[in-house]
This record gives sequence, C-alpha cells and structure tokens, in this order.
Amino acid sequence: MSYQLVVVGGGPGGYAAAFLAADLGLSVALVDPEPNPGGVCVYRGCIPSKALLHVANLVTEAKHSSAWGIDFGAPKIDLDKLRGFKNDVVKRLTNGTGQLAKFRKVQYIRGMAELLDPHSLKVRKIDGGDETIQFDHAILATGSVPAIPPMLKVEDPRVMDSTAALELPDIPKSLLVVGGGYIGLELGSVYAALGSAVTVVEMTPGLLPGADRDLVDVLARSITKTMKNVWLNTRVVQMKAGPSGIRVTLEGEGVKGGSPEQVFDRVLVAVGRRPNSKIPGLERTRVAVNERGFIVVDEQMRTDEPSIFAIGDIVGEPMLAHKASHEGRVAVEVIAGENVAFEARAIPAVVFTDPELAWAGLTEAQAEKNGRKVVVSKFPWGASGRAITLDRVDGLTKLILDPETERILGVGLVGAGAGELIAEGVLAIEMGANATDLKLSIHPHPTLTETMMESAEVFFGQATHVYRPRR
Ligand SMILES: Cc1cc2nc3c(=O)[nH]c(=O)nc-3n(C[C@H](O)[C@H](O)[C@H](O)COP(=O)(O)OP(=O)(O)OC[C@H]3O[C@@H](n4cnc5c(N)ncnc54)[C@H](O)[C@@H]3O)c2cc1C
Repeated sequence: MSYQLVVVGGGPGGYAAAFLAADLGLSVALVDPEPNPGGVCVYRGCIPSKALLHVANLVTEAKHSSAWGIDFGAPKIDLDKLRGFKNDVVKRLTNGTGQLAKFRKVQYIRGMAELLDPHSLKVRKIDGGDETIQFDHAILATGSVPAIPPMLKVEDPRVMDSTAALELPDIPKSLLVVGGGYIGLELGSVYAALGSAVTVVEMTPGLLPGADRDLVDVLARSITKTMKNVWLNTRVVQMKAGPSGIRVTLEGEGVKGGSPEQVFDRVLVAVGRRPNSKIPGLERTRVAVNERGFIVVDEQMRTDEPSIFAIGDIVGEPMLAHKASHEGRVAVEVIAGENVAFEARAIPAVVFTDPELAWAGLTEAQAEKNGRKVVVSKFPWGASGRAITLDRVDGLTKLILDPETERILGVGLVGAGAGELIAEGVLAIEMGANATDLKLSIHPHPTLTETMMESAEVFFGQATHVYRPRR
C-alpha cells in the first residue's frame, strides 16, 4: 500500500497529526501496537493517573470534611472496582479515538514499524504477518519509556515503574517513591490517599525541579502532611529484593541520624523518562539522534531526512502530551505546504497533586538565571473569597512581568484547580497581554480566576483584597 503520510506511534502527538492530515485531505496510515490510538498518554500515562488522582482527592476531601461537620468515616476501598473505573476511562477514550480514526478514514495498523528506506517501512503486525508501506512523508512519534538506571533495576514485581504502579497491584503498607518529579509525586499521592505510608526520596535539594520555589513550598507543606517522609538531598545507593520486602540503602540528609537501611513493601522508581528513538531501521535514513537520544528536528519538525518529520517526546523536553499534539499539527501543516513553525511562547506544565501546581512561560528562576529584569506580582489565596469558601486558602497566583512594557511573560499557580486556571495565563502570554489587559478583564465572582485579575491589580498596587501602604 502507498500513503501520502504514515505516522509511526499513536500517542497524542501521532494521532493528532494523523487526524489533522486526514482532515486536510491526505491519505494517512497510523501505526501503533495498541488496540486503538492513545499511546502512553491514554493507556499508561496522563489519563489513568488522573482518574486515580480524582479518586484520591475525593478520599482526602472526604476525610477533611469532618472539619465542616460531616463525617463519612473511614473509606472502604474496593481495589477491583477502582481498577475497573480507571480501565473503563481508558477504554472509553481509546474506543473514541478508534472511532475518530475510522470516521476520518485513517488506516490504523496495529503493529511495530521498521523503516526500510526514506520512503518505505515494514509493519510487523500484532496479529501476525508483515505489511510493507510506501509513503511520501512519515512522522515519527514513538514517544518515551521510563528511564531506570542500572542500580535501580531489580527484577522483582514489587519494584515498579509508573506503568506497573498504575495497575494498583495492592495497597502496600509502605511504599518508597524514588524521584520527586511530577510522576513520583502524583502516583505517590494516590497511594498515600489509599492508605500507604509513602516515603519520597529526591536526590536534589528540592521537589519538582523547573518550578519556582515559592510555588513548590506551598505544595511541599501539604505533601509533607500526606506522605510519611519527604527526604531531599537523599539517594538510593543499593536496592535488593528480600522475603520481607525491598531492602534499600539510602545516603544523604534524609537518613542522617537514622538507619541508612530501610525495608519497603514496594518501590516506585520514577526518576525520569528516555526518548524511544531506537526505531528499527532508523540507520537506513539520514535522521540524526543527539547525545541525549532525542531525534534532531528544526522548528518545522523536519529531521535531516527530507521525507521524515518527528514530534513529541522523541524530539525533546518538555515531555508533555499537549506539546506533542501541537508539534504534530505543525508537522502536518508543513507537509501540507503551509509556512508554519513550532514557536510556542508558553507550554504549560501541570502537576496534578493536591494542591495542583502549574506554570507557563518564563519562570522567576529562569529570569534570574538569564539575568532578565522582571517584576513579580503575587496574589495569596488567603485573600480570595472563592478559596475561602472552598476552605482551600493554600494557594498562590503569580505573574512574571516585563517592568518596561508591563507584558505578562510568565504565570505560576499553586492551589486547587491550578491546572485549569493556567490556561488563562497561556492565553495572556500567547496574545502578548499586559498587566492592564488582565486587570481590565472583568472576571466572574466568586471564582479562583479572580486571583489572576487581582495579581495584575497587585502589580499596580491597587488590588481590592490586598492592602499595600502607598510608597
Ligand atoms: C504516569 C504518567 C503520567 C503522565 N501525565 C501527564 C500529564 O498529566 N500531562 C501531560 O501532558 N503528559 C503527561 N505524561 C507524559 C505524556 O504521556 C507524554 O508526554 C505523551 O504521551 C507523549 O506523546 P507522544 O505522542 O510523543 O508519544 P507516546 O504517547 O509515548 O506514544 C508513542 C506510541 O508509539 C508506539 N511505538 C513505539 N515504537 C513504535 C514503532 N516502532 N512502531 C509503531 N509504534 C511504536 C508506542 O507503543 C506508543 O503507543 C505522563 C506520562 C506518564 C508516564
């Protein structure tokens, strides 16, 4: 068979690209081993983790509600039902993407692709047999896989990566989470809410490298209450499976004065992800891979091989679904002859913990590092009527602004629902909005969105709910 476009990898990058290409009238094949399009994001990433976090938040909130005079008692957890809910969520979404592929006449081929040359590939099909496909263009979108350093590789089902942890094999009495990034904190929060005593160890001095510290501090205050231990500047030096659990030797601040050897029922290794760029047959093309394993592309998502484009986790950080989809759409428009490029000013990042943490555009830390002069304007949620009605004053909204033009360069949020609120920040940054634009946009009351408007008012020293003496 011959297609104008073949997309290799059916994640949020690959399927967004395939669907747009079909909408633009191209003949398209999409190759992926899963039953339907969805990739890591839908099968074992964003979606199942958020389904579990929704339930975890419910458990936490129900516990907290005794403070408002309502006591639900201790939760009875039926793990089979919980797994069933999560699996149904995944099934519903992937059945949907499968239908959307059919409606658009995207040929979905279940299997693994091997490149034969710059214009053809072979699919080793899941149900047996091979199929050779010719193409004018291909988009590589093979995503990423968990990175497990050799020292943390223990062949025992009690040592889990994120995929295994999402299966919720049981609720271990004790769980060690290795890595204080977003995946470790999100999945650690799920297990903590379900009843595990969770210890998080992070090698660096802070959780969530990349996020501004004032935002992380708010999250850390809450997480240190729900987790048994959060140990920074601490690393695992040895891990061994034994009959009574996983024996872990730790080194650093966390175990100072205590025992460096600890035993956990289960361990989740969440120390990062690596690009899945070892695509069979890639060496038969001119596609280049850099020293970190990412496929090299330009701002139009072109590789060094003119017929081949690449998008998503395999081309670089941040490894996020919405970045992958956006790049996929750019690649397709370029293939369709448009003069476009991937020039995002603000790629939002969201950590779906409780409270949530989100940022977009320039961070204060980046501004400091680059010596860029900025003004930071903050609105604490203790002054938000809506946050008080929700009993969720553990939040902060901040704007990072250019002092000359008053333009919004970055937005940071921590608090309940921060992941939804950040979208307004993305729009403001992309539209080149300034503090006056945000201040003059009438926001509904009482909502958490008002914290965006009022942080712009803070910039002018005129916030209704924050008093600053005149200078
Ligand atoms: C636990 C977890 C939670 C996450 N939560 C979020 C979140 O909340 N928000 C967010 O934005 N991101 C999140 N991510 C990251 C997100 O999943 C990825 O950034 C996103 O899936 C990348 O999309 P992609 O299109 O590059 O590829 P992927 O989604 O990785 O899909 C690649 C697909 O290619 C297939 N493939 C590989 N090799 C071949 C081959 N040779 N032939 C055919 N097919 C092949 C793979 O099987 C896979 O299905 C999370 C990840 C994890 C693990």
